[in-house]
Amino acid sequence: MRRIKLHWWILLGMILGALAGSWLHAVSPPDGVTSTAAYEAFDGIARIFLNLLRMIVVPLVFFSLISGMLGMGDLSRFGRLGAKTFTLYIVTSLMAILTGLFLVNVIRPGAGLDLAIPTRAAPKHVPDSFWDVLVEMVPDNFVRAAADFDLIGVIIFALFFGAFTLTLEKGPKKETLVHLIQAAADVMMKLTGFIIALAPVGIAGLIARMVSTTGIGVFYDLRWYVVTVFVALAFHAFVTLPLMVFLATRSNPYRFLRVMSPAFLTGFSTASSSGTLAVTLERAEHGAGISNRVASFVLPIGATVNMDGTALYEIVTVLFIAQVHAGVDPAFSLSLGQQVLIVFLGLAVSIGAAGIPHAGLVMMVIILQAVGLPIEYTGLIWAVDRVLDMCRTATNIASDSCVTYIVASTEGEVDRSVMEQV
Ligand code: ASP
Repeated sequence: MRRIKLHWWILLGMILGALAGSWLHAVSPPDGVTSTAAYEAFDGIARIFLNLLRMIVVPLVFFSLISGMLGMGDLSRFGRLGAKTFTLYIVTSLMAILTGLFLVNVIRPGAGLDLAIPTRAAPKHVPDSFWDVLVEMVPDNFVRAAADFDLIGVIIFALFFGAFTLTLEKGPKKETLVHLIQAAADVMMKLTGFIIALAPVGIAGLIARMVSTTGIGVFYDLRWYVVTVFVALAFHAFVTLPLMVFLATRSNPYRFLRVMSPAFLTGFSTASSSGTLAVTLERAEHGAGISNRVASFVLPIGATVNMDGTALYEIVTVLFIAQVHAGVDPAFSLSLGQQVLIVFLGLAVSIGAAGIPHAGLVMMVIILQAVGLPIEYTGLIWAVDRVLDMCRTATNIASDSCVTYIVASTEGEVDRSVMEQV
């Protein structure tokens, strides 16, 4: 019998989860209290799965990244790889922003929408200064960075560790360390494979939990805004990114996307690119044949700094809010300078946002404040943000994966026979 592929199992889990969630939503009392035994079971399954995914990320990134560096042999290649990676990450994010900018100006979802500014104040997040951001990237305590899930801190320590391991003199000491790290990386990858096999059940729990608590009424008022974000994200994920992959690698991009799809579906269900990282790494190496050297370097960085879906969403949402606000306050309009500022801040926010649920919305306050829009409008967006977050996270992961594939292909680091077998 042919084995049923993992992404079909995951889709089945999503459908069953959605059905179970809608049933629970229908039988729950109208006050929205859903603490039934069924809800608790969905919630428990979802949380166990999320915990397992998060449990594996720090050791997997740490050992995989160092093992990749050691496999590369010397540091000069690393510089070229880094330059390529960052350039592509910025280019894809800018393309996403342009798509969002175009669609929000064509559809104009906020024009003529009569929505009062919510009185519920949005959470105030005081943004850090430029230097604070830089300083925070350097961990003062590696163990704390790992415990706090501070991936940038973990990456920076791992880069140092890998670089100085390479400088050790050849001999048994260096060999033992290299073998130990490579063996630990292998074990982490195997454990990841085991956690991924549980994904259909975990994802069913996540979707059931979500559907049982969200009604669909809130989506009605904001339907054109939601549609604008969806269409723009879909265009970026299914047209722009595949086109780039095709031009750079001359291979079928949709086949690549299909192989990576368990990562996108996990990202969709968890709304966290960092939480999905283990799945993305496993699929890139064992599904798409990308070498560990490239995958373990490019993907963890992407999960923390490259967020095309988030950048696009920032632009569409801020311009949507500006359109709504212009209806409330006719004197309000955005100058060209302010629009350019929104684009740059959108990019900056997407780089700075953590790969966790709702990070993009929390950070949006920075842009709203910069162009003088009331931050209370984010209260409106909260109502629909979970679903948008799921879609933008999947797009973020698609972009990380495509860039990794392009970098690996141009470096001769893809074993094409692996994708042919799956
Ligand atoms: N949830 C997104 C991610 O993890 C970040 C965001 O809120 O935009 O990629």
